[in-house]
Amino acid sequence: MTTVKTTPVHASSLSAVGISKTYGTGAAAREILGNVTFEVQSQETVCIVGPSGAGKTTLLRCLAGLMPPTAGAVYLGKDEVVAPPQRLAVVFQDYSRSLMPWLTVAENVSLPLRGRPGLSKTNRATKVQAALESVGLSNAGTQYPWQLSGGMQQRVAIARALAYEPDVLLMDEPFASVDAQTRSDLEDLTHTIKAKYGMTILLVTHDIEESVYLADRVIVLSGTPTSVTEIVPVNLAYPRDQVSTKSTREFAELRAHILKLIRRPAAGQEAEPGHD
Ligand code: ADP
Repeated sequence: MTTVKTTPVHASSLSAVGISKTYGTGAAAREILGNVTFEVQSQETVCIVGPSGAGKTTLLRCLAGLMPPTAGAVYLGKDEVVAPPQRLAVVFQDYSRSLMPWLTVAENVSLPLRGRPGLSKTNRATKVQAALESVGLSNAGTQYPWQLSGGMQQRVAIARALAYEPDVLLMDEPFASVDAQTRSDLEDLTHTIKAKYGMTILLVTHDIEESVYLADRVIVLSGTPTSVTEIVPVNLAYPRDQVSTKSTREFAELRAHILKLIRRPAAGQEAEPGHD
């Protein structure tokens, strides 16, 4: 379905307009997403949080053009997304399945660049090396993914997305499968690549702290079917730091506020006034 947009939009903004998604049909039909609407502005970092099973991955797959919504539409700039757009890259949680074990790290990173018109082999190699440097793996090009730790493999997956030079980077629980120390390193890497490449980032996570640490705004999903409960602005200063940023009162207040939103019973289940 095409929805007419009347406001001017930047080419690398990403918007969901009235997205609903139902799995199954007839008696087995389950509406997971109900009328989800939001916009990620160009060069903004937005995190989507919600409880497990809320439909975050479902939403991200619709946004990436990997799956059509049942109703509503997704726009990249003013173009409706009906298939994975060229200007958009996705990093998934499961790096072990997204990297090809029989290819070297450099070959994995260069995969999306193969067949790009007008890109010579030398220029491709330069882009691959630059992407590997950006994720701190400049010497790992000749290794195979299985020779690397989980955190390093996820860095390779991020490098592959960066080599592609996307306008929009979607990340689905990208750090959920690594240990806590690696996770915070990868969170900081996200800040670094954002500062360097300046793309629009939309990251799905169930980790409230991570969402506040990374985002300019946090979209909180809840309810059944899931919809946007609130969009929370995060006005924490940059550069952010794992210790000092997370020790601020503002950080603690944002975390508590989002936790309360997620835990709030769905409308109708229990009478409860505002969230604060
Ligand atoms: P989240 O990422 O928030 O954990 P998901 O989007 O993975 O949530 O899943 C939301 C709900 O939709 C879950 O109950 C899940 O079982 C269901 N679901 C996900 N994918 C499918 C599918 N392809 N077919 C049917 N149900 C699905």
